[in-house]
Amino acid sequence: MTTGPALGQELDSRATDISRIVITHAHPDHVRGLAELVARTGGADVFIHELEERWLATGRVPRHGRSGALGRAIDHLPLLHWQPVAASRTVTDGESIGSLRVIHTPGHSPGHIVLLHEPTRTLLVGDAVFHRSKLALGPAVLAADPAARPASLLRMPRDVHAVGFAHGQPLSGERISAFHDFLQAIAAGEARHA
Ligand SMILES: [Zn+2]
Ligand SMILES: [Zn+2]
Repeated sequence: MTTGPALGQELDSRATDISRIVITHAHPDHVRGLAELVARTGGADVFIHELEERWLATGRVPRHGRSGALGRAIDHLPLLHWQPVAASRTVTDGESIGSLRVIHTPGHSPGHIVLLHEPTRTLLVGDAVFHRSKLALGPAVLAADPAARPASLLRMPRDVHAVGFAHGQPLSGERISAFHDFLQAIAAGEARHA
């Protein structure tokens, strides 16, 4: 999430046009700019899964939020803390926020959610899947429950036209087949980390 001066320009809209902000999960790289973003929007409502509402309000990932010692160690760094934000509302699996459907995908973090924009069948996967040099589950030590990730991925819809990642370029058109292949590999038990 960026909160620079360019916010909204690509969409030909202004920050104050934003009335709702949906957070996929409360990791520092996703929420460190949230308090400022809320301020710039003039007080947009913040939505987050109920399991991470307290994280957001505390301003850091708790000890149980990472499975690995390295992950827990980095959460001590002040750089990875954020200005606490009180969520306006919590969300649960299956509910809709406007045209976005919430899909609970625990593993990377306990309250991680994926969002399906139903009119365009666009899936916003947050950190459930990383798309750096290839599609992958991401580093296990930074995840809360790495073993839970494959089952969560299989809860995501496959009949989608585009996939947006928090880390990596989006996939659409013919390139969407790479996403389908990845889910198939996960279903076959071939988990791919970082
Ligand atoms: Zn994350
Ligand atoms: Zn991230």
